Amino acid sequence: MDFTLNADEREIQSLARDFARREIVPVAAEYDERAVFPHAVVEKARNLQLMNLGVPVEYEGSGLGALAIAVVAEELAWGCAGIAACILLNDLVALPLLLTGTSGQRAKYLSLLADGFGSYALTEPDAGSDAAAIGSLAARTAGGYRLTGRKTWISHAPEATFFVVFAKTDPAAGSRGISAFLVDRDLPGVSVAKPLPKTGQRASSAAEVTFTDVLLPREALLGAEGEGFTLAMRVFDRSRPMVAAFGVGVAQRALDEAVGYATRREAFGRKIKSHQGIGFKLAEMGMRAEAARLLTHKAAWQVDAGQPNTLEAAYAKAFAADSAMWAAIEAVQVFGGYGYSQEYPVEKLMRDAKVLQIYEGTSEIQRTIMVRQLTGG
Ligand SMILES: Cc1cc2nc3c(=O)[nH]c(=O)nc-3n(C[C@H](O)[C@H](O)[C@H](O)COP(=O)(O)OP(=O)(O)OC[C@H]3O[C@@H](n4cnc5c(N)ncnc54)[C@H](O)[C@@H]3O)c2cc1C
Repeated sequence: MDFTLNADEREIQSLARDFARREIVPVAAEYDERAVFPHAVVEKARNLQLMNLGVPVEYEGSGLGALAIAVVAEELAWGCAGIAACILLNDLVALPLLLTGTSGQRAKYLSLLADGFGSYALTEPDAGSDAAAIGSLAARTAGGYRLTGRKTWISHAPEATFFVVFAKTDPAAGSRGISAFLVDRDLPGVSVAKPLPKTGQRASSAAEVTFTDVLLPREALLGAEGEGFTLAMRVFDRSRPMVAAFGVGVAQRALDEAVGYATRREAFGRKIKSHQGIGFKLAEMGMRAEAARLLTHKAAWQVDAGQPNTLEAAYAKAFAADSAMWAAIEAVQVFGGYGYSQEYPVEKLMRDAKVLQIYEGTSEIQRTIMVRQLTGG
């Protein structure tokens, strides 16, 4: 078994690592405090080809695989998970197009990602984990569909020029009645609310989007009618390794900050790292960060190898998110009172980590997926 990254992966890792230290770390606290989308940083990343990594080269992407994306996601999230999400979310939005888009749909919408942003709109005010319970409706018309519904927590909706929207085309058919649509933001009836105030990852935006009698042409249908739910689940298998990698980045940063502090700070005449209660925290943080990284790389590698990875993607996502949250809390503890101050970076890690246990399927939902996969039902 070979654990080394290939030359392309090492090159993009080094670029992302350097970018995180030079361009993200110095401004992360400021964007977090102001809670504004970091356009300047994101455009620098776009110019360095750190965006749209999984988009084929013919559509101005980098044509890289899931493992390369995970490697970049870890490095950028080490700098700031919120800014990392701003840079990498287009790669999630590209997935349904890559999985099931027609050549015309890919040409139009992947090109929009090259210059801008897209959003992935599944969650609704009354349906998050239970995605099959969405109430948005796409009723057939003579020329296509009439879309009505309300989506919430849609990342980058304020910046997006289009949305991948999941809606029911056959409400009586449950999850098999859901279809996916490509919806241009400038269509009449599309309305984006102001960004929701958030606890963490505050540089990244999320907002409600309302669709009121939006008339869609037939070509807006992504994939076949009734295949939207399956498509959403296939997207999750491919995107969860990236979100897991955000967790690895946060967990690693928490470890690095804690190690740095514990080797400087003294109490009772000794460096605090030599008090076993603190030293063991560092050991545990290192162990969990590395285990999360290995789970993440395996789940991503499976995507690139064309292997089913539903179970491993759930393992990686839940373990990495839970490890990031745990490590960030422990890092705050290692810093003592200073850990609770906004003048040190670890309280932000704690706020940024929390949402990793919620979006892209909560940690509980990952465990329900594991149980289903392990027991076959
Ligand atoms: C910052 C942010 C960005 C987001 N970005 C997007 C986006 O871009 N696109 C998008 O579509 N959505 C997005 N979401 C929504 C996110 O995916 C949902 O919040 C998440 O799936 C949980 O859904 P919910 O909030 O409705 O919680 P609920 O589904 O109501 O869950 C509430 C609690 O019950 C638990 N629970 C529910 N069902 C079960 C069960 N069967 N077993 C055990 N526990 C269960 C959950 O784990 C959770 O703890 C985002 C959310 C946030 C906070």
